[in-house]
Amino acid sequence: MQNLLAQGDPLAQSERVSSAHDEGDTDVLTIDELGDLRGRRVLVRSDLNVPLDGTRISDDGRVHASVPTIRRLQDAGARVVVAAHLGRPQGAPDPAYSLAPVAARLGELLQTRVAFAADTVGDSAHATVDGLTDGDVAVLENVRFQPGETSKDDTERGAFADQLVALADVFVSDGFGVVHRKQASVYEVAQRLPHAAGGLVLAEIDVLRRLTGKPQRPYVVVLGGSKVSDKLGVIDNLLGTADTLLIGGGMVFTFLKALGHEVGTSLLEADQVDTCARYLERAQQQGVRIVLPIDIVVAPQLEAQSPATVVAADAMPADQLGLDIGPDSAEAFGNEVRTARTVFWNGPMGVFEMESFAAGTRAVAQALTEVDGLTVVGGGDSAAAVRLLGFTDDQFGHISTGGGASLEYLEGKTLPGLDVLER
Ligand code: ADP
Ligand code: MG
Repeated sequence: MQNLLAQGDPLAQSERVSSAHDEGDTDVLTIDELGDLRGRRVLVRSDLNVPLDGTRISDDGRVHASVPTIRRLQDAGARVVVAAHLGRPQGAPDPAYSLAPVAARLGELLQTRVAFAADTVGDSAHATVDGLTDGDVAVLENVRFQPGETSKDDTERGAFADQLVALADVFVSDGFGVVHRKQASVYEVAQRLPHAAGGLVLAEIDVLRRLTGKPQRPYVVVLGGSKVSDKLGVIDNLLGTADTLLIGGGMVFTFLKALGHEVGTSLLEADQVDTCARYLERAQQQGVRIVLPIDIVVAPQLEAQSPATVVAADAMPADQLGLDIGPDSAEAFGNEVRTARTVFWNGPMGVFEMESFAAGTRAVAQALTEVDGLTVVGGGDSAAAVRLLGFTDDQFGHISTGGGASLEYLEGKTLPGLDVLER
């Protein structure tokens, strides 16, 4: 994979990461090593956790990303049984989180009939799987309708895994967005069946290895979004690898607070202010640049029509909240990104869902498309944002399907769902 990073090719524009990879390069088991799959029931854990607007899928990127592995298994003559989750139902069936519309979309993309089981491991699941012939595909109902999927109790997860295992002969792990979770359909199932990583998981690992190995420099990381405490952890590790960190989105206010500034009613993690102060100090000692916005778009309310104004980042009004980085910051961030050779971006710069707060995210996305080097976008909302703002997947090197999983990988953590696939 490394050799795809054409060392001295000055003409190479925004490299596209191919999902073709040298399987011998990884230390996880691969589908080829599972032997002849004809007639075998292959349980595939996919990530089909798409954003829904009622029953309409508002961004089907994850369904697209799961297609190649499923198709490959079909072509090998397997009977493909797809397990996946949607949203956060409370361990019981909830029609609002049914995978039925997602299964229908998968069928359209695969251009084959996709059977749908009305339960996850019950009578319908067994009847559906029994009805498959070689090359057929079935989708099981949401695994999170079962409390055993996400239970903290090993025995409960194991018991649910046993029920899934009764539906299959081998297991393929392809849901990259969940490999950081020790959950029954990710971890315990792999312990119980011959298993392998699917093509999506391999492609994601390949890209992340390029970021943690010897990234071409300058290596710029852009962080934003709303899950502040989830994202602060990665900074620790990035201070050792990245050259520049650009910080926007909701997490920026905890940093501005650490500098002693007023942040009004913005998103703030008060208990992380000291951590942010330490990061700023360490960055200086280690020669890593942490770049914060110099201006902020504020409004009285988090509402599309709320009157937006631009203020200096060190002069935010006490009764308003920051909803986007300002235009000067957007330009500065764009310039930092454009001159990088490697960029990892996780988390929108503002509330991009509302046009008045989308400019910062748009500027960063645009700059990524102009990079001569490797660009990686991670995170469900970040991926949705680039599509919503009119960019296409092929303008980026790689759009990761997993936000949390890619961050934990970059943090240097062991991901249980990958660990269990090691040879
Ligand atoms: P990802 O899914 O890409 O990892 P997150 O889930 O962390 O990203 O964050 C995405 C959300 O962050 C978006 O819905 C966006 O509206 C929100 N967001 C961005 N900037 C702000 C801000 N300044 N205040 C509140 N929410 C924000
Ligand atoms: Mg998100």
